[in-house]
Amino acid sequence: MELYSGYINKLVDELAGLPGIGGKSAQRLAFHIINLPEERVARLASAMTAAKANVRYCKCCYTLTDNELCPICSDDTRDKKTIMVVENVRDLAAYEKTGKYRGVYHVLHGAISPMIGIGPSDIKIKELVERCGGDVDEVILATNSSIEGETTAMYISKLIKPLGVKVTRIASGVPVGGDLEYIDEVTLSRALDGRTEI
Ligand code: ZN
Repeated sequence: MELYSGYINKLVDELAGLPGIGGKSAQRLAFHIINLPEERVARLASAMTAAKANVRYCKCCYTLTDNELCPICSDDTRDKKTIMVVENVRDLAAYEKTGKYRGVYHVLHGAISPMIGIGPSDIKIKELVERCGGDVDEVILATNSSIEGETTAMYISKLIKPLGVKVTRIASGVPVGGDLEYIDEVTLSRALDGRTEI
């Protein structure tokens, strides 16, 4: 016997497939959505489809943006010769919040993880190497201090150093295994200031 209507089950299944949302949260959200006024639900649905249809990767740094180039890459005051490599858009946002960094970024969209089958070609490493063929002074590896983040940093370093680009790694003031986005701005600033050449 179906406990709820098929429509509710479908909604719960879709929500439960989102990261960080377990079965119970999915049920709670589903019932919340059902009880919302129709126009609120329409707004929620259209915000999702509009974001999906219009948001794309910046053609330079691969962060998410509405335009061909993101606001950082199209800002003439940013130092285009310094590239900070981060795992995801949330990490970029965390560094931007410090207000201390004036270079540009490169978003990998993940880290190398043989355990779950993510290899170098599954993230934006090739695109980074291409960028380093241009006028670049320094690449700052700001991947997480997890095994995956360290593996990715080492892999990139080996690829880029032969191109004559200075490669640095953020200081390990960042807790091991710590997700960058949860670390406070002061710690991030210190990690950036204390970076060392590798
Ligand atoms: Zn960009």
